[in-house]
Amino acid sequence: MAELTPNERARRLAAGAGADRLPCVPIVGNTAARVIGCRVRELRYDAALLANAQVAAYREFGYDNIRIFTDLYTSAEAMGAKVYAPADETAYLALPAIQEPGQIDTLRPADPQRDGILPLQLEALRRALDAVGDEVPVTAALTGPFTVASFLVGAETLTRLVLRAPSAARRLCDVALETTLRLAAAIMDSGGTPSLTDAMSSSTVISPRTFEQFSLPGLRTLVEYIHGRGKKVTLHICGKTQPIWPLMVATGADCLSLDNDASLATAKTAVGDRVKLMGNVHPAAVMLQGTPLTVRAAVREVVAAAGDSPKGLIVASGCSLPTETPFENIRAMLDAVREIGFPVNRENLPETHALAGKIPNSKFQVNRNTQIPNSKPTLNYPGAPRHPFTEGELAHARKFAVREESTRTHTNPFPTCSRVSDSPSVKGWPRSGRGSSAFDAAAHETPNHPGAAGEGAV
Ligand SMILES: [Zn+2]
Repeated sequence: MAELTPNERARRLAAGAGADRLPCVPIVGNTAARVIGCRVRELRYDAALLANAQVAAYREFGYDNIRIFTDLYTSAEAMGAKVYAPADETAYLALPAIQEPGQIDTLRPADPQRDGILPLQLEALRRALDAVGDEVPVTAALTGPFTVASFLVGAETLTRLVLRAPSAARRLCDVALETTLRLAAAIMDSGGTPSLTDAMSSSTVISPRTFEQFSLPGLRTLVEYIHGRGKKVTLHICGKTQPIWPLMVATGADCLSLDNDASLATAKTAVGDRVKLMGNVHPAAVMLQGTPLTVRAAVREVVAAAGDSPKGLIVASGCSLPTETPFENIRAMLDAVREIGFPVNRENLPETHALAGKIPNSKFQVNRNTQIPNSKPTLNYPGAPRHPFTEGELAHARKFAVREESTRTHTNPFPTCSRVSDSPSVKGWPRSGRGSSAFDAAAHETPNHPGAAGEGAV
């Protein structure tokens, strides 16, 4: 079968009509800047450039979904949080919108047509839709309400509120939800699909009970609203999610985008009959640090694990690709999926077992629960004098700084996985694993975050 456009492929797969290959979404974020040779910060403040970069990346690699995205902080920023955008790295949260829980009731939902850079993101969405919307789904990143809430007040404070002042935490989540609902509406008014990502709802960050009480209600409302407007929803949550898979399904999402911490084979058995699965090649150890050979082996592993998932599979990276991911590795992901074809025949996956244990960085060797080899957590705040904030502000910001797990084999020190640091312990969670702090155990979100696939991929 000749190569289909992503829209044709999605339509045919949804209709059970077969296709040329499985859908494939290497989750390209700011790597798009490299495709057109501009700096990462330029994408954040120039709608035309952002659209051009994402369209050019799609044309370069031929994947199945475009996502308009710069970083996770745009909604919180539109409500008053301060974001620092280094010249050529993904932006990060510098200060939450409020410094004290007592200020929660001063927060107002954002107006996506006016506040922060949300209008720019919407303009970029419209430009990308005009350029290639007839052939590929174009989505726009929508950060989940709980994650927005944590950026509004700081992760540490939100943790404290959840434990000691749940009603205040709920009011915070509610005002965050209102912003996300307005942004979802604006995205759909523009003709796009919201791409829902909720990093701080990860089970490496909060307990399933906290998820159920503080994150699930907002997600459910959001998904219901998006469904009401005729769009499907992919929900991406980073890091560990197995304890909350049934709750993620309970949000009503049509597709779960899972990180490399998850076993797709287990997910297939647990929830594959209810939702489509998307994932989960390691964005750093394989996509950034690996070779085309490694990438191909990892793709084959993913397809061997869940290529027969009842509701379908989208081959993807587990999270947003680090900015400096080699182009040849992105191409290798698409090539591997093309070679495997459709329908997937397990006999088409001979390398999976033959190569087990022989490929550097293969997930056959990297324990899913271990961190990326040779990486060291580094503060996202270099303390460099180029920031627009005072030292006092920065010192405060460090309390909830998102830490990045640098993979350091390429020049970009800000690749995929991050951590929220210096946060208080939460009794009883996580039950095992690294550290006693709920926020210490690899939040594994990238500022470079994915956002998952939208309607066409679902
Ligand atoms: Zn992620």
